Amino acid sequence: MAIDLGVQELIVLGDSDLLIRQAQGEWKTRDLKLLPYRQCVEDLSKRFMYIEFRYILRFHNDLADALATLASMLPYLGNTYITPLEIQVRDQHGCCNTVEAEPDEAEKIMNEVHAGGCGPRMNGYVLAKTILQAGYYWLTMERDCFHFVKKCHQCQSHGDLIHSPHSELHPMTAPWPFVAWGMDVIGPIEPKSSNGHRFILVAIDYFTKWVEAITFKAVTKKAVVDFVHSNIIYRFGIPKAIITDNAANINSYLMKEPTELWRQPTTISKRFSKGWFKALDNGMRSCFALLGYRTTMRTSIGATSYLLVYGTEAVIQAEVKIPSLRIIVEAEIEDTEWVKTRLEQLALIDEKRLTAVCFGQLYQQRMARAYNKKVHPRYFEVGQLVLKRILPHQEEAKGKFAQNWQGPYLIKEVLSKGALHLTDVEGKITGMIVNADSVKRYYI
Ligand SMILES: [Zn+2]
Repeated sequence: MAIDLGVQELIVLGDSDLLIRQAQGEWKTRDLKLLPYRQCVEDLSKRFMYIEFRYILRFHNDLADALATLASMLPYLGNTYITPLEIQVRDQHGCCNTVEAEPDEAEKIMNEVHAGGCGPRMNGYVLAKTILQAGYYWLTMERDCFHFVKKCHQCQSHGDLIHSPHSELHPMTAPWPFVAWGMDVIGPIEPKSSNGHRFILVAIDYFTKWVEAITFKAVTKKAVVDFVHSNIIYRFGIPKAIITDNAANINSYLMKEPTELWRQPTTISKRFSKGWFKALDNGMRSCFALLGYRTTMRTSIGATSYLLVYGTEAVIQAEVKIPSLRIIVEAEIEDTEWVKTRLEQLALIDEKRLTAVCFGQLYQQRMARAYNKKVHPRYFEVGQLVLKRILPHQEEAKGKFAQNWQGPYLIKEVLSKGALHLTDVEGKITGMIVNADSVKRYYI
């Protein structure tokens, strides 16, 4: 190659002391196999004006070593023309110079690999590894990949649900019976009951845990209004608040009429404990389920709801069949004595309620302690973009493979105790109040 390029003076560097000395003529070549090569070197040497053979240490000769390794890997077919390689010596590590990707090229590569061309959607670390395997490298590739995946809209809207609470539990207490009710609709229930009913509308008093429930075929405005009138207001008086979750069917227009009619100050949206109504789920034998619920000791109040409402325990079926002590005693006492006993029971009801309040507060503290262990604080500020979780009752909820989050929405106001006031990006939807535990940050 040096002859082809018209080189006149040449220094040949080699890391084999034996060959260099033989080429210099200091040592004789005795191996018969090497003699033709020696002769060839001598012939070629004559074509240069000046040629020098110089010995160097092996670690100084790594470039020639690499070339020799490469050459031995390529089949050379005699007269094939091979374009000369341009070789540069750099002071950086070899792999840093393999590919110099421009910023927009890097973006293109990440986009293509992450979009599914090279397997499923992946996290930042796997994305960087996959790109590296494909033969691309740039200095900040891992950081770039992490940022790219973090901002990917598809990955964000399909992201896993967050189950850890974002803030500590704020237990609510009701000061006296029937001041606040929690209300919810259960259903649709499959299979429906024998009379075709598929929904259960339930309300529970926050103080005594007294439960009212009815079943019906469809959630209609009339059914809800009738229920609030006849089962709550006519029986227990006008409550201060009726608390519902964010379910559209009872939180929207259905509740407006009864609340306006009775000048209710507010209905508050809050998550509502659903533990108790499991007894109602099947068969809708709601009368027995309700009686059972009302006459069972509740852990949260340390008494039965019946006792807190009426000051005495209800007579259960078994007591009638096999007369209990109080049935026997009551059958024998005079009317005046019975009235006196009943009045005494009612006079003591306040003390029982007071005990229930203390019991309830201790129970709430225990619950809050257990709940607060799982809290992972997340802080939101006005102006941040967020995604809102798609709740199961929403139209957008399309099952397991559909997206879990919708948005982005803009935080307009951060309210107390973890509530957020959201608007959409164009500002069309206003007045959307959500709990911060169903919201996560959105990155662009
Ligand atoms: Zn993605």
